[in-house]
Amino acid sequence: MSQTFSGVVPETRGEETIWFDQCQKGKLSILKCLECKSFSFFPTSVCRNCSSRAVELADADGRGIVHTFSWVYRAPHGFETSVPYNIAIVELFEGVKLMSRVVCDEDTLRCGLEVQLSFAKIAPNFQVPIFVPSGKR
Ligand SMILES: [Zn+2]
Repeated sequence: MSQTFSGVVPETRGEETIWFDQCQKGKLSILKCLECKSFSFFPTSVCRNCSSRAVELADADGRGIVHTFSWVYRAPHGFETSVPYNIAIVELFEGVKLMSRVVCDEDTLRCGLEVQLSFAKIAPNFQVPIFVPSGKR
């Protein structure tokens, strides 16, 4: 199920553009190091663990757990119609963490909640990764 959120389409460059292009294809890319086999986020050209440049983009599995979160009740300009909404740190199955949103009500969201990847449109041709509780995609 596709969601629609308020948002601002970012101006991207370099590695960011590649990452956002993958999002438009419905893929969440993370960095995989071919030397030490670790994963990291946000993808760059160098492994954060061992500094190797032998890295490649990998598609995240899409499963994760909520590491922490906060609810926003007073939104910044442009997000007024979205409140309340949450900002969550999700730890992916691969062990990397990223900031996103979890689409659910306030009673459902908790640390340790199992979530899965989905996408939300913030413009007609631009989507960003979000998460939903597992089993509710
Ligand atoms: Zn490495």
